[in-house]
Amino acid sequence: MDIPPERIRNFGIIAHIDHGKSTLADRLLELTGCCKNTTGSPILDALPVERERGITVKAQSASMFYPHNGQVYLLNLIDTPGHADFTNEVARSLAAMQGALLIVDGAAGVQAQTVAHFWRAREHGVQAILPVINKIDLPQTNIDACLEQIESQLDLAVYDLPILAVSAKVGLHCEKVLPALVEHIPPPPPSARTDLPFQASLVDCWFKEFRGVICLISMVRGTLRPGDAIKSAACDRLFTVDEIGILQPTLVRTDYLHAGQIGYIRCGMKSTQDALIGDTFYEPTHAAPPNIKPPKKMKPIVYCGMFPSVREEFEQVMAAVDKLLLNDSSVAAEKIVSVALGPGWRLGFLGSLHMDVFRQRLQQEFAVNVLMTSPNVRYEVVYKGSPAVQQAISSPEDYPESSRLAQVKEFREPFVKATIICPASSFGSVSKLCSDSRCGQTLTDYLSTDRVRVTVDLPLLEIIGDFNDRLLSMSAGYASFDYEPLPPRPVDLVKIRVRLNGEPIDFLGSVQPRIRAEGVARNWVRKLAELLPRQQFAVPVQAVIGSKIIARETVPAMRKDVIAKCVFIICTPIQLTTANL
Ligand code: GDP
Ligand code: MG
Repeated sequence: MDIPPERIRNFGIIAHIDHGKSTLADRLLELTGCCKNTTGSPILDALPVERERGITVKAQSASMFYPHNGQVYLLNLIDTPGHADFTNEVARSLAAMQGALLIVDGAAGVQAQTVAHFWRAREHGVQAILPVINKIDLPQTNIDACLEQIESQLDLAVYDLPILAVSAKVGLHCEKVLPALVEHIPPPPPSARTDLPFQASLVDCWFKEFRGVICLISMVRGTLRPGDAIKSAACDRLFTVDEIGILQPTLVRTDYLHAGQIGYIRCGMKSTQDALIGDTFYEPTHAAPPNIKPPKKMKPIVYCGMFPSVREEFEQVMAAVDKLLLNDSSVAAEKIVSVALGPGWRLGFLGSLHMDVFRQRLQQEFAVNVLMTSPNVRYEVVYKGSPAVQQAISSPEDYPESSRLAQVKEFREPFVKATIICPASSFGSVSKLCSDSRCGQTLTDYLSTDRVRVTVDLPLLEIIGDFNDRLLSMSAGYASFDYEPLPPRPVDLVKIRVRLNGEPIDFLGSVQPRIRAEGVARNWVRKLAELLPRQQFAVPVQAVIGSKIIARETVPAMRKDVIAKCVFIICTPIQLTTANL
């Protein structure tokens, strides 16, 4: 169907986690006759990990045709994840949109990630943001209170916009969202002309069995047809388009893609090196478009080591990791070899949920099993001298040798600015949690008589563990949390080494702020003492900083399988469920 750019609307659905984005996307897909939900789980939450956990981890798009005032419009929807660990997904989707529906759970009101996603959308130049109050079937829903919160906490004049109050679950008033979208969200910019040379940006890609790499592109200008040659600006490589189409949300072939559309292409790409999210494709017979921005990589927040569970399966795991990295460009990967665990990867993620989802996707979508070490952050060491040399510390081996410690000017640890919105009744416990977590500057303001916003500087290390869990349990599930990176701050950093029977076990080392070192060391030593097999004569298990013993237990002597036990200890899997999001 030939739809001119002025009748195209590209929009995303953004919100705090669980406010109903994916459920509303289902209703819109049904109302436009695009497809019907037959499974009970949201249609666009297609990954097994999404269905199991009930959360969206990948932004998904779908094209819908919608007749309005006698003309057919093409609505391209992108459903996005809400959790802070997947902001990369939201950011790359926002770049392709002119508008967004901002969903607010009518019973929960504006939450930390509602605010964060709103500003992210503004930063990415999303022109129209339409608030939608959801869950009006719930008796606790208070539409007026929500509208007031939106007015006061977001830079949005709600009363100039249509008031959309719906129940996505039961389908109440959802049909009002479609005309509002057409009328309030602008079409693609006037530069999106079909008669200009082709240019598109790469929004997402994934690997499909028997079809290879599929690229989701946002057409900036021109028209693209199967057989056309395209050039990648970032990789400086040529490809030929084999297949073209739109997502409904399954792949539906079309004869062309026009300026302003969002659709998929298959063009014989083989690996992650070819597919850089944010890359620009253009017509090879023309010069590269001016002012194109190179693809931007998100900076990872937590790091871990990952190894095949069975060493002999390395090749198989590597093939799976390559395919998954293609689909998740926010993961940083580097090959490493560990003395105890063999060849593997050092991976960087946007958070510990992101890390756990990656492991689960490897298992569910590619049937490979891996061991991951506990999540850690990346510290920095700055040496004296001019210019000062700075190095990253992401594993104990990177910690300076004792002979070099005198040259260290300072160590630094990553910090974040966290925003917590909680009921006033849990404010005391939340403040205590922050001070127990080595917080820096804290600002508190009352959003209303019963809701408080705490803005607090925290070391990243403190929030990658059970911070969110504790926050939720102390607020009966009502507190919400979001964070953004701050520059690193000085920290007194030490390396803990473990000695078994006087012998150093190198791969059991850990780098920690001194203030936490003793607690961490005692835990490790106790865990080791419990897990090591009992023998006839006793040997010491010690944790040391330099030559100073900071924790000690005594266990019977070692058997041969001690290494296997140690491996088990460093790979204690993290357990995350939707309950602690
Ligand atoms: P998302 O994380 O924003 O994508 O949220 P989901 O669409 O996955 O919905 C989160 C939960 O809220 C699910 O259990 C939905 O069934 C529920 N939900 C969504 N919309 C409504 C609604 O209008 N009313 C009620 N009562 N529940 C809803
Ligand atoms: Mg969702």
